Amino acid sequence: MEHLQNQVVRAIKKFRMFPRSEKILLAVSGGKDSLALWDMLVDMGYSVDGLYIDLGIPEYSDVSGQKTQNFAESRGLVLHEVSLGKTYGVDIGHIARKTKRPSCSVCGVLKRYVMNMVADRHGYFAVATGHNLDDEAAVLMGNVLNWQTEYLQRQSPLLEAKPGMPRKVKPLYRLAERETAAYCVLRGIDYIMHECPKSEGATSFTHKEVLNRLEAESPGSKDHFLLGFLRTAPQLFPQSSSDDGPELQQCTRCGQLTTAEECGFCRQMARAGLDSLALFDSSVSPERN
Ligand code: SF4
Ligand code: ZN
Repeated sequence: MEHLQNQVVRAIKKFRMFPRSEKILLAVSGGKDSLALWDMLVDMGYSVDGLYIDLGIPEYSDVSGQKTQNFAESRGLVLHEVSLGKTYGVDIGHIARKTKRPSCSVCGVLKRYVMNMVADRHGYFAVATGHNLDDEAAVLMGNVLNWQTEYLQRQSPLLEAKPGMPRKVKPLYRLAERETAAYCVLRGIDYIMHECPKSEGATSFTHKEVLNRLEAESPGSKDHFLLGFLRTAPQLFPQSSSDDGPELQQCTRCGQLTTAEECGFCRQMARAGLDSLALFDSSVSPERN
């Protein structure tokens, strides 16, 4: 347990993710990674509130939401809840069908939007997610296989804040999945063991399987692959000071900063016949003690 916490401390320090004095928002799914991270950070004295996004997926969302609420209640922690199911009576699959896009891509737009909005409204210094070594190595493999240089350039445990977007951090990037699972068992944390049903057939799972086979043949491969990339990335992709990014304007519907007239989330919801502004009406955001 000490080793695992040390790895998280190392990650936070190396990338100067956040100081102890700042308030952090952690995206929590009810799974082992996000709950283990919440537990570790609070144990280490950080000020961390949770954000749970209910995707309305039958059975899966009920269980994951319950596990998250139980964890927060048992430790007296603040949990923000934003619910697709309660707001619209639909699940993420409904939006995917209406917009003819994969569920995970629709989900990505929704999650990024909600994280940005909640962090902005409540003034959080950074948003943390529970991405671990296996997740990040699989993403890296996908980016390399497709030579997605733009994504490679942005792949980092720390993304600095930009207008309309809070700082994003991944303090678990040095820990493997089985390590966070072991942490949960040792700490008695009850987490949802099932994967999201929409993840079936995702290429990231194939990449994880391939990396697991490499790891079994040659222990340390995942570490070398990801940590080696993170060490080399600054030389591969030196920051261009002249790159200020595209010009941003306020979304005419919700006010979020965006490059187009309406932001991607409002456009996605409109295509699904849903009112994007209603999403936060049924959300629960308790006050901090
Ligand atoms: Fe969202 Fe896809 Fe992950 Fe499920 S598997 S939580 S739909 S990104
Ligand atoms: Zn918008």
